[in-house]
Amino acid sequence: MLQWILRRLYDMKLDNQSLVEVKDARAAQQAIGADVRHTPVKFSDSLSARFDADIYLKLDNLQPTGSFKVRGACNAIAQLSEAQKEKGVVTASTGNFGRALAYAGGRYNVPVAVCMSCLVPDNKVHAIKSQGAEVYIHGNSQDEAGEKALALIKERGMKMISPYDDFDVIAGQATLGLELLDDVPDIDIALIPLSGGGLLAGAAMALKLIKPEVQVYGISTKKCPAMVESLHAGHPVDVVENESIADSLGGGIGLDNRYSFEMVKKYVGLSNTRVLSESEILEGMCSLYFEDKVISEGAAAVSVAALLSGAVNDVRGKTIVCHISGENIDMARFTDIITAYKLQK
Ligand SMILES: *Cc1c(COP(=O)(O)O)cnc(C)c1O
Repeated sequence: MLQWILRRLYDMKLDNQSLVEVKDARAAQQAIGADVRHTPVKFSDSLSARFDADIYLKLDNLQPTGSFKVRGACNAIAQLSEAQKEKGVVTASTGNFGRALAYAGGRYNVPVAVCMSCLVPDNKVHAIKSQGAEVYIHGNSQDEAGEKALALIKERGMKMISPYDDFDVIAGQATLGLELLDDVPDIDIALIPLSGGGLLAGAAMALKLIKPEVQVYGISTKKCPAMVESLHAGHPVDVVENESIADSLGGGIGLDNRYSFEMVKKYVGLSNTRVLSESEILEGMCSLYFEDKVISEGAAAVSVAALLSGAVNDVRGKTIVCHISGENIDMARFTDIITAYKLQK
């Protein structure tokens, strides 16, 4: 009964808000043009030969800060009111979004605070500090760090920016969809990593509304398939978060999700999601490295891994783009993975 009431409240909330549209993606492209790169696509000879298809890699690992997250982070900051630009923004993300938001704050001269717990490793703290953000280390868990974020919102009027469930962030990520249509106009299939769903929501919206016949797939890790489980349930649910080589695909989608869940449901749907095992993801990373000479973090390799594992099949003769979302992996760890793989072959 309580579940039912919560569901109705959730549906009512959705009724009176609008989702991100193509015009918002185009506005984002205008706003952030100078701050993000139009990244290259690389034709993969090896994958194309193997699957008898035209397979391209969209190299968003070459963005500033090493991931696509700058698209959404820069747009979120560019769209702030002048008053809010002075007060600044805050996030609790310690990963690629924290880094990207710090970069965006530097470009637009907007204060950025990143709140984290004392459990966050030094290299991550350093990466965010070196982009010029204020770093607050507070408490022993991400929840306690979140309390610090709330305090900053109250005391300094900062605005909280979600890494995946924010209108302007999603509009920024949607610029990927616009770019793919420019880069590979005859695209049949887009393979896109999926966690909180900001990337997939935006990119799929742009692709499907401009070219409805494109098949868009969202690829997650079995270790934390929060969006896939939510689509299955029909509403946002929590999942247990297990450690994965695709660490950037960890975390939930938020039980109070406002945008990314509805958009992924509308433009992709459960039937076009896939979940991959750790060994499948490792296979993707090693294929990208040895065959295509691309360094990718685990989260970024799931697009190629979806092909190699057969999770997405029926690709013969098609034009396919695999999104390579980031390259932020500790290089000592990366070298270990590559070496172990070579030895085992
Ligand atoms: C954040 C991230 C993703 C997932 O993006 P969502 O918008 O959370 O779905 C995928 N790959 C990398 C490298 C990321 O940093």
